[in-house]
Amino acid sequence: MVQPGKVIIFSAPSGSGKTTLVRHLLTCKLGLEFSISATSRAPRGGEVDGKDYYFLNDEDFRQSVLNGEFIEWEEVYSGSMYGTLRSEVERIWSHGKTVIFDMDVVGGLNLKSLYKDNALAIFVMPPSMEELERRLRGRQTDDEDKIRQRLAKARKEIGRSDRFDHILLNNDLETAKKEAEKLVQSFLEK
Ligand code: ADP
Ligand code: 5GP
Repeated sequence: MVQPGKVIIFSAPSGSGKTTLVRHLLTCKLGLEFSISATSRAPRGGEVDGKDYYFLNDEDFRQSVLNGEFIEWEEVYSGSMYGTLRSEVERIWSHGKTVIFDMDVVGGLNLKSLYKDNALAIFVMPPSMEELERRLRGRQTDDEDKIRQRLAKARKEIGRSDRFDHILLNNDLETAKKEAEKLVQSFLEK
């Protein structure tokens, strides 16, 4: 049995900048390690299996669900499943590190309910819906249909932001990075 440690959860509507902020924190020598999720969606250009995600086909994903290998999983977008493997969290804790998650809002709240005071749950807020749309388009990773789905979901997600421990506005990126560092540091010192 692995000794449970702390976890940091970054959640936000897609395109808000949570991946950018999580990547920054991983360079900060805070003792964090990224929890690599499993997904049934296809890799995007440049994504590496076992680094960005564990890419599974539908059948293998469903089998892992049946085997009870996930601490949470969801069909985040129609036909695309995502989940957190228990083995991944235990692997990170066994190194004495803190787990950091990049998670959609429902998954983030589920993890907060699971880990309670051992979790710091941060909601990354985009400055506006217009800016969120600009960032999604600027990223050039999703077609028009996916962008519409993500924007529709974002409205609902923003409505749940007050259930997080902190709301972090990602307007100016450098300011948001510093704020993220401060929040994580003070949580780890507790
Ligand atoms: P998420 O992980 O929440 O889906 P990303 O980190 O992929 O979001 O960011 C979406 C896009 O917005 C990326 O192209 C990223 O470079 C850009 N971005 C992130 N933060 C900012 C910011 N503060 N100002 C402008 N662009 C940003
Ligand atoms: P993307 O396809 O853009 O990489 O991710 C789509 C959404 O799935 C993002 O909001 C991302 O945070 C979320 N996601 C990634 N991994 C997991 C996971 O393990 N569980 C859940 N519930 N959502 C996840």
